[in-house]
Amino acid sequence: MTKNDISEINSLLSKPKQIVIVPHKNPDGDAVGSTLGLFHYLKQKGHNATIIAPNDYPIFLKWMPGEDTIIKHDTDTEKSNALIENADIIFTLDFNALHRTGNMESVLATSTAIKIMIDHHQQPDDYAQYAYSDVAMCSTCEMIYHFIEMMGNVDAINAEISTCLYTGIMTDTGSFRFRSTTSTTHRVIANLIDKGAKNAEIHNNVYDTNSYNRLQLLGRALNNLTLVKKFNTAYITLSQEELNSFDFKKGDTEGIVNYALSLQDVVFAVIFIEHKKENIIKISLRSKGSFDVNTFARTHFNGGGHTNAAGGRSELDLKNTVDKFISILPNHSNDLNK
Ligand code: 5GP
Ligand code: MN
Repeated sequence: MTKNDISEINSLLSKPKQIVIVPHKNPDGDAVGSTLGLFHYLKQKGHNATIIAPNDYPIFLKWMPGEDTIIKHDTDTEKSNALIENADIIFTLDFNALHRTGNMESVLATSTAIKIMIDHHQQPDDYAQYAYSDVAMCSTCEMIYHFIEMMGNVDAINAEISTCLYTGIMTDTGSFRFRSTTSTTHRVIANLIDKGAKNAEIHNNVYDTNSYNRLQLLGRALNNLTLVKKFNTAYITLSQEELNSFDFKKGDTEGIVNYALSLQDVVFAVIFIEHKKENIIKISLRSKGSFDVNTFARTHFNGGGHTNAAGGRSELDLKNTVDKFISILPNHSNDLNK
């Protein structure tokens, strides 16, 4: 984002506007945190802002300030579409291709609003008039902090904004441990705590609210863990039947793939989760070091993301998806054995 972009956006926002803020489908902590952080900022500046999420998100995010105002496009489609059609400005956060919003794609594509993308994923599409895209950033939440900073408004960051941005930085960095966490991230986090983010409370709200069923599901997932030693790869499967038997709720499988990645010598970890209703297998991919799961997901599983964390899907059944995965590994033998 150039100085010129910033001054143009500054003048766009100098008068009250109708603004819609959109995260990606199946919003995670960074998506919900960044949209809410920006929402509180824009409200404070006198704008009429609304967050429209493509669909619902996990219960462990349903405590964040302003969260109860988020409209879900899948269950409130008419209202959502009207807001999008009447918007002057649409911010798209934590994704960089409109298809990542699922069924919202067409109404967003045809909208004449000025679009502003703020995102940290690889290979952004070209749909926004203004794009603040930086793959080196740990999270979109950190980018929202820098965006407000660039707008010359750091003083506007209050406890609500701080709480939302802290949450997304925490979740997208695996609690400040992933490689993308920089000294600047820590300085931003320190400022957010100074401005009112209650760090211990936020961590507790997100991570220490497990249900008994969720822990039992984790146990099953760990039982299903398979090591492919030859390729320093580990994978986990969860069938729909298994999910049902532990009364699966959205978000229950989040983070499970990291247990596979924590195995000694493993550099590539994948979880395959069956979604019978959509007739797909949802795939989460993680890596350590240089193995690029964004490219792997794009090439083989219709997905994408970051170098060390990506997602994708398969239309084959669970067994055939895993068979396909195993059959591809030899093609990547060199990269997996570095
Ligand atoms: P997760 O595995 O946690 O769902 O996603 C990991 C990362 O990959 C996130 O940054 C997410 O936004 C991205 N991602 C997940 N699924 C997809 C997908 O289907 N397509 C693309 N392009 N990115 C995805
Ligand atoms: Mn993110």
